[in-house]
Amino acid sequence: MDVKGIKKIDIHVHATAYPSYSPKVYEGTPKLSAEQIIEIYDKLNVEKGVLMSLVSPESSSEIVTSADVKSIADKYPDRFLWFMGLDPRMCGNSAEADLSKHINYNKELGAKGIGELTAHLYCDHPMMDNLFYHASLCDMPVTIHIAPGLGKGYGIVDDLGLPRLEKMLKKHKNLKILGHSQCFWSEISSDITEEYRNRYPKGKVTEGRIANLMRDYEGLYCDFSAGSGLNAFTRDPEYTARFIEEFSDRILLGYDMVCPLNTHQYKYDDFLLKMIDDGYLTPENYYKLVRGNAIKLLKL
Ligand SMILES: [Zn+2]
Repeated sequence: MDVKGIKKIDIHVHATAYPSYSPKVYEGTPKLSAEQIIEIYDKLNVEKGVLMSLVSPESSSEIVTSADVKSIADKYPDRFLWFMGLDPRMCGNSAEADLSKHINYNKELGAKGIGELTAHLYCDHPMMDNLFYHASLCDMPVTIHIAPGLGKGYGIVDDLGLPRLEKMLKKHKNLKILGHSQCFWSEISSDITEEYRNRYPKGKVTEGRIANLMRDYEGLYCDFSAGSGLNAFTRDPEYTARFIEEFSDRILLGYDMVCPLNTHQYKYDDFLLKMIDDGYLTPENYYKLVRGNAIKLLKL
């Protein structure tokens, strides 16, 4: 298999639909434009990227709506797919809200999933529970960003060991969640502490909560984008090899690029291709990670 020739799918990317408006909050630069992303994709042999909406105010100074990402995907249908924006407080601020109506509306317009979900509520809050119920009912995968505690950054809140996420996965059997962020990926190792869970812990991995949860819940997927995913996979290649071998059908490549200053996206191929050279990763599993699993999950 010519692994370098495989056209990749990026499961997680951020863009602005309004480059001339986008606040320059990333060390003086705005969010990436679609055209800047396409330029990077051409260098990395990425066919398509999944644009994330960002509708919860905690996450960013620039709200990115479903309409924003849809408009980019409509302009470049061969290069972008989109996830709809959903906050559990939408449609009435109630745990009884009929979110299915809203989800199905977007699904019919082409949304392939929901996310990035960053609403700053406990993962098992009644309204969050309601969101997961409707996402599962509508068969829409949800990309989540996990925060370490209320008032500590943005993202859905869970405790060390991710017990609230487990509760939701147990309750909503058909729910498909793409785990992401430091608080998700630091759980790859069991020696994680409160102090380091929202960072980029290094060193050898002793099997942690992610492997347990992946084994117990078929609906959990790994989005290994951003510094957090890359750090989790590069810190102990021997463990990563075993992890990928066991869960190769539910790990998806993402870069989580946001601004023109990002360079982390160029490190993934070096790492994955070295894993293949070292005998840690089969070309078949590489294909699944960078393309095959996205095609299956998003029904492309
Ligand atoms: Zn993101």
